[in-house]
Amino acid sequence: MDRTRVTYAAVLAVPVLAWVLLDDGVVRSAAYTLAGVVAVAGVGIGVRRHRPAAPSAWVLLAAGLGCLVAGDAVYAWYLDVLHREPFPSPADALYLLAYPLLVAGLSRLVRARRTARDAAGAVDSAIVTVGLALLAWVFVAEPVVVSDAPVAERLLAAAYPLCDVVLLALIVRLVVGAGARPVSFRLLTASAAVLLGADTVYVSLATAELYVGGWLDGLWLLSYGLAGAAALHPSMRRLSEPGRDAAPFTRRRLVALTAVVLLGPALAVEALVTGAAASVTAAVAGGTAVLVALVVARMHLAVREVQRAERQRERLQGDLAHQAAHDHLTQVANRARTLEVVGSALHRGQRAGTLVGLLFVDLDHFKDVNDTWGHAAGDEVLRETARRIRAAVRQGDTVGRIGGDELVVLVEAPGSEAEVVETAERVLAAVLAPVAVPGVPRGVTVGASIGVAVARDGRTDADHLLGEADAAAYRAKAEGRGRVEVFDESLRRALRERAEQEAAIRRGLAAGEFVLHYQPVVDVADGRTVGYEALARWQRPGHGLLPPADFVPVAEESSLVCDLGRWVLGAATRQLAEWRADAQGRGVPVDDLTVAVNISGRHLASAAVVADVREALAASGLPADRLVVEVTETVLVDRATGDAHLRALRDLGVQVSIDDFGTGYTSIGQLQHLPASTLKIDRSLLAGGGAGSAELVALVVHAAHAFGLSVVAEGVETAEQLARLQGLGCDRAQGFLLCPPRAPEDLRQPGVALVGHASPT
Ligand code: C2E
Ligand code: MG
Ligand code: MG
Repeated sequence: MDRTRVTYAAVLAVPVLAWVLLDDGVVRSAAYTLAGVVAVAGVGIGVRRHRPAAPSAWVLLAAGLGCLVAGDAVYAWYLDVLHREPFPSPADALYLLAYPLLVAGLSRLVRARRTARDAAGAVDSAIVTVGLALLAWVFVAEPVVVSDAPVAERLLAAAYPLCDVVLLALIVRLVVGAGARPVSFRLLTASAAVLLGADTVYVSLATAELYVGGWLDGLWLLSYGLAGAAALHPSMRRLSEPGRDAAPFTRRRLVALTAVVLLGPALAVEALVTGAAASVTAAVAGGTAVLVALVVARMHLAVREVQRAERQRERLQGDLAHQAAHDHLTQVANRARTLEVVGSALHRGQRAGTLVGLLFVDLDHFKDVNDTWGHAAGDEVLRETARRIRAAVRQGDTVGRIGGDELVVLVEAPGSEAEVVETAERVLAAVLAPVAVPGVPRGVTVGASIGVAVARDGRTDADHLLGEADAAAYRAKAEGRGRVEVFDESLRRALRERAEQEAAIRRGLAAGEFVLHYQPVVDVADGRTVGYEALARWQRPGHGLLPPADFVPVAEESSLVCDLGRWVLGAATRQLAEWRADAQGRGVPVDDLTVAVNISGRHLASAAVVADVREALAASGLPADRLVVEVTETVLVDRATGDAHLRALRDLGVQVSIDDFGTGYTSIGQLQHLPASTLKIDRSLLAGGGAGSAELVALVVHAAHAFGLSVVAEGVETAEQLARLQGLGCDRAQGFLLCPPRAPEDLRQPGVALVGHASPT
C-alpha cells in the first residue's frame, strides 16, 4: 500500500472510531459527517493523483457521494440540534440529488469501458431493472402511493426505490459489460452494492415501521469509505479503459436472469393466493409483459450471437483448409493437394473415358535469380509466374507447386493431346515475359522447360503421371530449355531402362560386383607415389568390366549414388589401411600415402555424408588426414548444398580436393574461399595445347599456390606435359603416362618411384 492510501485509512479511522465509541449524539453525528467528508476527499484526491481517462465519471461520483454526506449532516442537524424529524426535509432534497449524480457517474464509466455496442448487456440489465422495479413497486412503493398519506410522502416513497433500481441497473451493466476488473473495480462495485443493500434494508424496515438501528448508518459509512478506497487505488485508471469483450454469458448470469424473470409470475401467484387488489395484479401483469418482451429480445440477440460465432468458425475452418492445401507463397495448390486433385481427375477420366493432361513446368535458371537478386526477388518471380500460369490455363484446370521452382498444371478432360501441348505453349509464353522486381532495372526473365504427359485411360496413378511429365520436362531441359516436350514412347522406354539399370546397380552392389581400381598420384618433383585415387568399376556379369560412365550417371539420378559412395568410402579406406600395414611390415615408410575418393554432388548434399565418412574411417582405422574427398568443381557451383558438409568433413581432419577444375565457372578469385586444400586441374586444360592453354595452367597453379592450395594435374599423357608441370612447380600429377588405374593386385608395391615409367609392373 502506498502512503496516500495508508494516510486515507488512518484519517478515516479517527472519525469512524469516534462515531463508534463515543456517546454524545452531536459529537457522533459530527464524526459521522467528518468520515463522509474524508471519503469524498479520498475520491477527489484519487482522481487528481491517477488522472483516469474519464475523470468526469469520478467527479460525478464524488459529487453524488458529497450530496449523500451533506444529506446525512442536514438530517443529523434536525435530529440532534433541532430535535425534529420533518418529513420530507431538506435532507431528502440532497439525497434525491445524489442519485442522479451517482447514476450519471456510473453511466460515464460504463460508456468509457465498452468498445463495441453491447446490446446483450443492455438487455440483461434492463431485465434485472424491470424485475426489481416490479418488486420494489409491489412491496415498497405501492402500499404508500395508494395510501392516503400526504402527497410529498407518497412521491418520496416512489422516488427512493426508483433511484435504487436505476443504480442497480447500472451496477449490473458494469458487471456484465466489457473492461478490466481490477481491485478498484471490485471496491467500487462493493461500495455501490453496500449502498443499495443498506437502502433496501432501510426502506423495507421503514415500510414495516420497524426500528432502524445505528448499524445501518455503519453500512452507509462503509459504502462511502469503499468508494474513496476505490478512487485511491492505482488500478482505478484501468477502470475507465475500454475493454475488449463483454463478459461471457455464464450459467450464473442465466440463473440470475431466470430468477428475475420469474419474479413477475411469482408475484402474480402471490396476488392470486392472497386475493390482492386488482391494481397489484395489473402492475404485475404490465411488468411481466415488459419482461417477456425483453426476454424475447435477449433470445434474438443470443441467436444472432450464435450465428455470428458459427460464421466465424466456418470462416476459420475455411482458412485452415485453404492453408493446408495451398502453397503459402504462390497460393496455388501445394504438392499434397496437387497429387490429390490429379488422382481424382484420373478417376473421373477413367469413368468418363476422357483424357487427363499434366504439365510439369520447371523454371530455367531459377537458382541464378536467387543467387543474383536475392530470395525476395526469387519469391516475387515465383508468385508472378504462378499468377500468370493461372491466367493462362482454363478455369477448371488446377495449378500446383510441387517443389522449389517446379509447378504443375492439371488439364482436365482435354479434347486431345494437341490441346494439352497448346496449353503448355501458352504457359511457356506467359512465363517468358520479364517479371518486374523492385531494384532490378529491366525485371527478371526466367524461362521454363515444360514436360507434357497425357493419361489416356486413367489407368495410372498421380505419382506415375507426374513422373512422366517430369521426365518429359527433364528432356526439355536437356535439349536446350525453354521448350515443351511430350512424354512419348521413347521416353517411356528410357524411363523403363533407367529403372532397370537402377535395379541392376542395386543388385550389383548387394552382390559385391563392384570393384575399385586405383590410380597412383605422383609427386612431380621426385616421382614418388604419394597417394591413389580410387575409381569405381562394375564387374557386371555378361557385360564385362564397366567404367563409371556406364553407371555413375544412372546412380546419380537417385540416392543410389549415396549407397555407391558409402561402399567406395569403406572399400578405399580399408585398402589403404591394408597397404599401410603391409608396408610397415616390410619396413617401408608409407605414412604420407593418401587415398582419394570421388563423392558425387547428391551424396555431398545428403545429410548422411559426414556420418558415412566417419564410419569408413572408424571401420578401417585409417587416420582421417589420409583420406581425400574429391568433389567436382561443378558441384561447388551449387554453393549452399555442400559447403556446410565439406566444412564438417574438414573438421574431421579429412582433406578436400576440388576435382575437374577448369570445367566449371569458379573464378580464380573464388579460389581463396574454397573449403579445400587441393585443386585438381582437369585434363582438358592440360590437353588443350596451344600457348594460351599453357599459360592458363600456369596461372591456375600460381593462383592456387598463392591461396595456399596444392595442385594436382590430371590426365598427364605425355612427357612434355609432365616436364611443363615440373617447370611450373605443380605439386602432383596423375595420368596414363605415369600409371593408369589398376586393380590393387596389379599395382606395384607402394613407395616406389613411378615417374618416367609408362607402365610400371
Ligand atoms: P575423375 O575423378 O576426374 O577421375 C579421373 C578419370 O580420368 C578416371 O576415369 C581415369 O581413368 C581417367 N584418367 C586418368 N588418367 C588419364 C589420362 O592420362 N588420360 C585420360 N584420358 N584419362 C585419364 P574413370 O575411372 O572412367 O572415371 C571417370 C569419372 O567417374 C571420374 O572422374 C569420377 O568423376 C567418376 N567416378 C569414378 N569413380 C567414382 C566413384 O567411386 N564415385 C563417384 N561418384 N564417381 C566416380
Ligand atoms: Mg576424381
Ligand atoms: Mg577429374
